[in-house]
Amino acid sequence: MPLELVTLPALSDNYTYLLHDSDTGATACIDVPDAKPILDALAERGWALTEIWLTHHHHDHIGGVEDLLKVHDAKVTGATADRHRLPPLNREVGDGDRFEFGGEMVDVLDVSGHTVGHIAFALPSSGYVFTADSLMALGCGRLFEGTAAQMWGSLQKLVALAPETLVCSGHEYTQANARFAITIDPDNADLKARIDRISSLRERNEPTVPSKLSEEVATNPFLRAADPAIQAKLDMIGAEPVDVFAEIRARKDRF
Ligand code: ZN
Ligand code: FE
Repeated sequence: MPLELVTLPALSDNYTYLLHDSDTGATACIDVPDAKPILDALAERGWALTEIWLTHHHHDHIGGVEDLLKVHDAKVTGATADRHRLPPLNREVGDGDRFEFGGEMVDVLDVSGHTVGHIAFALPSSGYVFTADSLMALGCGRLFEGTAAQMWGSLQKLVALAPETLVCSGHEYTQANARFAITIDPDNADLKARIDRISSLRERNEPTVPSKLSEEVATNPFLRAADPAIQAKLDMIGAEPVDVFAEIRARKDRF
């Protein structure tokens, strides 16, 4: 049985996630934009928060930690590289580290690019990866601190996970990402079908996340820099995928 996953909207367009192990009662929250929706979801279910995992230092991912800790005595995990700009950490981790949660192993991946020090948490047994502002549904985070090459390398690590992995990303940006994606990859039938699904989800005000990794590989232009149709569209046939990625990222910034 996979760990129970709860997707919670927070602030204007952020997501936070709860992971719960019914055997031990262990409950983790991944990123804390705001304590309120998390406190409500925990109270509703009668769960006590035991862990907080932080992906990166941006305020919309850590702003509610202090308030959450006033109510729940949870252990905080974050990147060693970001310790100077994260709330006090009980567990510091870096690329390749593993720790146990709810009877499963959690793999820490450095996915720098959006920030330097951004990490992702992968749970191969349950099939989840928490990517926040690295790989996003039909997109990837803006490059605030890292380079295109760093983000491209980070995305390659995520793509290497099992295709059925659920990508739990940090924002509801999917519809805006879709409007851009179709300009880069206009003949992609999978993308068109996905855009229809996204539209109907958003009409019902439902989240478009998590998304399946295989679906990202088929439709997310930031993962498809080696695709001949995209390279042709960008007039970059035969170019290095990292350069094509950099061009796609630059175009999205101007879009
Ligand atoms: Zn961010
Ligand atoms: Fe963010």
